Amino acid sequence: MPELPEVETVKNTLKREVLHKRIVMANIYWDNIIAFPAVKDFKEKIKKQRINDILRRGKWLIFDLDDYFLLSHLRMEGKYFIRHKGCELAKHEHVVFLFDDDTELRYHDTRKFGKMYLVDKDKAYESKPLKDLGLEPWDNSLSPSYLKNKFNGKPIKMQLLNQGIIVGIGNIYADEILFLSKINPYKAGNELEDSQLLEIIKNTRITLERAIEFGGTTVKSYTSSEGVHGRFQNELLVHTKKVCPVCQTKIEKTVIGGRGTYYCPKCQK
Ligand SMILES: [Zn+2]
Repeated sequence: MPELPEVETVKNTLKREVLHKRIVMANIYWDNIIAFPAVKDFKEKIKKQRINDILRRGKWLIFDLDDYFLLSHLRMEGKYFIRHKGCELAKHEHVVFLFDDDTELRYHDTRKFGKMYLVDKDKAYESKPLKDLGLEPWDNSLSPSYLKNKFNGKPIKMQLLNQGIIVGIGNIYADEILFLSKINPYKAGNELEDSQLLEIIKNTRITLERAIEFGGTTVKSYTSSEGVHGRFQNELLVHTKKVCPVCQTKIEKTVIGGRGTYYCPKCQK
């Protein structure tokens, strides 16, 4: 599943390819991808809109258009491809944006879980889906007191995945962050000391920055965009590992909140 670093990589790749292009029309081949507004309105409103910038908030890609934000969540398998107009439609290409230079941006999603919203630009941050998001990892307001207010007695691993607290930490990165912070994934979130919360904040930033630098993590069929493969999977310390790189203890594999979790029982007591 694409996580924050992968979405950041997709954003940067797309910026090189579609910035300043004007949308002539959108064709929707799988209606459920369009979460808001109704497909007919979506197609009408997006006509003649230019892509002025591409931003990211959490795992949402934001196409900054003239009057709207086009929000796109890739969920499990979403990908974008650039094609020439008239090039045969591939099986899983569900949304196609035709540009005025006869190129097309095609949204490809084998699982069809991805979602798109077209929202008024001036209300975008106060309306769904952006309004419920927690802080970005690099937000200055991210502090031990903020986390103390948000964390409850559930395992810290689950709470790092909660997008309403900090956005953009997925399963792989949560394991890496807790390993670097020497915190057991079962530890209750509301029992952490200030020093441990500071470690989490620091290591969240370090881990995600490194992952972005390496172009994200390529897992299974996921690639950020055509021809882009992340290399962070070669940098993982604990997730999917057998032996701890620090103390050589056997890595424990468990399930927390339904997600496969890896940790070192000695380093993360
Ligand atoms: Zn260890």
